[in-house]
Amino acid sequence: MIYSVIVDLSANEVDRIFDYKGEGYIVGTRVLVNFGNRQTEGYIIEEKQNSDYDPNKLKEIIRPLEDFPAISSEMLSLGKYMRDEYHLRWADILRLFIPAEMRGSRVKSLFKQQVRLSVDDSLDKILDSLKPNATMQRDLVTFLYLNGATLAETLNSEFGSSALRALKQKGIVETQDIVVRRTPYKNMGSGVNLRHTLLSSQQRAVDTVLSDRTGKYLLHGVTGSGKTEVYLTVIEKIVAEGKTCIMLVPEISLTPAMLKQLRDRFGDTVALIHSGLSAGERYDEWLRLKNGEAQIAIGARSAVFAPLTNIGAIIIDEEHDSSYVSDFNPRYNTVDVAEFRANQSGALLLLGSATPSICSYYNAKCGKYKLIEMPERINKQPLPKVEIVDMRTETRKGNKGIFSSVLRDRLEQTLREGNQAMLFLNRRGYSSFLMCTKCGYVAKCTDCDVTLTVHREDNRLKCHYCGKPYYMLDKCPNCKSDSFRQGKIGTQQVVEQLSKLFPDVKVLRMDADTTQTKESHGKILEAFRKGEAQILVGTQMIAKGHDFPKVTLVGILDGDQSLYHQDYLATERTFQLITQVAGRSGRDKDVGTVVLQTYTPTHDCLLLAARQDYKSFYEMEINIRRPSHFPPFSEIIRILYTGEKEKDCIDQLTEQYAQIIDLKTRYVQAFYYLDKMRCPLKRAEKKFRFQILIKLSTDSVKEILPQIYSVCDGKKRNGVQIFVERNPQNLS
Ligand code: ADP
Ligand code: ZN
Ligand code: ZN
Repeated sequence: MIYSVIVDLSANEVDRIFDYKGEGYIVGTRVLVNFGNRQTEGYIIEEKQNSDYDPNKLKEIIRPLEDFPAISSEMLSLGKYMRDEYHLRWADILRLFIPAEMRGSRVKSLFKQQVRLSVDDSLDKILDSLKPNATMQRDLVTFLYLNGATLAETLNSEFGSSALRALKQKGIVETQDIVVRRTPYKNMGSGVNLRHTLLSSQQRAVDTVLSDRTGKYLLHGVTGSGKTEVYLTVIEKIVAEGKTCIMLVPEISLTPAMLKQLRDRFGDTVALIHSGLSAGERYDEWLRLKNGEAQIAIGARSAVFAPLTNIGAIIIDEEHDSSYVSDFNPRYNTVDVAEFRANQSGALLLLGSATPSICSYYNAKCGKYKLIEMPERINKQPLPKVEIVDMRTETRKGNKGIFSSVLRDRLEQTLREGNQAMLFLNRRGYSSFLMCTKCGYVAKCTDCDVTLTVHREDNRLKCHYCGKPYYMLDKCPNCKSDSFRQGKIGTQQVVEQLSKLFPDVKVLRMDADTTQTKESHGKILEAFRKGEAQILVGTQMIAKGHDFPKVTLVGILDGDQSLYHQDYLATERTFQLITQVAGRSGRDKDVGTVVLQTYTPTHDCLLLAARQDYKSFYEMEINIRRPSHFPPFSEIIRILYTGEKEKDCIDQLTEQYAQIIDLKTRYVQAFYYLDKMRCPLKRAEKKFRFQILIKLSTDSVKEILPQIYSVCDGKKRNGVQIFVERNPQNLS
């Protein structure tokens, strides 16, 4: 038999099918093959009778790497789809489908010794055969008799290793190797099945979703409307029918909270796919899904590749979140992938959000998704009241600090009432830059076109793009002056100022710097939930999903921050962020307040966000996008060129740009826009960055995109990487 094999090397030169000979392999199996003058891993993606190559010259597959096909036929079809859609290398796609450590056999199942009694006699009879003073041996036997087979390590720590050894020698007990699953967040999930009686709005949502098991739904429910309970009920129903489910959440920081709720209700049938797990945990959770021990997969975007068959539902919470679009190789859109998998297995797709992306809401309006609305909060509370504070007036009044007088008053009141507050600022570190007041020198990363952020805790400057740390400057390297001005305030400084303002109040901070270990997210959130601190300061990490009943005040310190980015998504992002952050307030009995500080208090986006008026915002935004041909009325294609040699990048871009112009002359109607330029982020990690930006009419994408891909496949210069992105969420 002949097998088509993809070798597991991520390089353009080998990104094609190689034929091998072999016997009895199942398609999807990972195998070891001779390739060039070495051995490498590969994936069998097809079985066939004939090869285009001389069959006598074909090499034999050396051996399988596992005794099961790691990649199912469904996943192979998904791979083909992703290859057509995103033009990714085969190896990069297939790697998404398995736990990283499976490659190179860096992880195996964990085996442990299990001990059991090897004689079938009564306890008394066994004990009679032991010396009366062999207490440990007697206790061990009794224990086994009562509890059945037990891990050797448990017995050793309980009764000492010599007891076990002696019993084994006497033939009273025997051992056997068994596979033990490593479980992430072992103690999370109480097993207590907290179940709410559905409110009529939730019941209606569930009924609609279940009315058509292959439907696609957009659940637009305001913050606190009880979307999670809808998800759980749908999952319960689908699993009861013997099908499997995938539940996606936008960020790793939100997975523990959702995991807990799922485990509470569904116990061991839930498996977590999460990049922060240990290699062994990740492998075991994947295996549990693969072999049907677990039926529910939960995780951030990579969980969309969970190795499940017979999928009944795919649910994407906070569907608008930009993290669902991967912005590094391999680049893909999670919602598209989910849709493909749902179609493939006849599953339902449920997208949920309080602030759906403009494109999804448009799709719902056009009938591509069925729209379900939950316009009210569970507690019947009104949405929190948002006070917009004009920071220009504050400055005029002489308040140079980061807290307006309104926010200070509200903070005091909240603390006095024994409630909690959250302060949101999407800038971590102490301050955004360091500038010499004499000559204007600004400290920048040597590898990126990014100004360095001041970090006070370890007294360093850091690049927030590549993470590189630098020593703090005591003198300007340019003019030797020692007088510096610092840029905008970051979360570290907010905490510092709070401790001056309220010396007795405990403050927690949650941002990328305080959450570097796997458990740290959970610890901070848990401490805050328990009331160990009264104020939580954080970046966008605290904006989403969290449900803290005691929070009655949310302060948004810099509401304009994302508004003035150059790309077309800026207003949408600002609206989403403010609505989400505001939604953290007043989720229980007390009415919530939100203080929104801004320098542009009359901006429509902020006014609508303050009223949390999604529909008006949608109308406003869609009416801007329609005449200007932005998505959903077009598709944006970005071809990104990066490389350490600037000239090579420019030359490569210029060659291909000429070909794209040819393409445009053939399809004048389809090109709404075409231009070439430096990327806004000019250099990153030592590489220069250039781009061709294209806006295509949506109905022409199918025809033109393959031609753009083939332009990019043309002659390549060494050291220049070319990436094509469809509707990128990050245009930096
Ligand atoms: P959303 O995800 O829509 O923002 P959540 O799902 O977090 O909202 O629900 C908000 C709060 O309401 C949670 O504390 C949840 O436990 C509670 N809740 C949900 N459904 C019900 C219900 N039917 N009855 C009472 N409380 C509910
Ligand atoms: Zn200077
Ligand atoms: Zn850098």
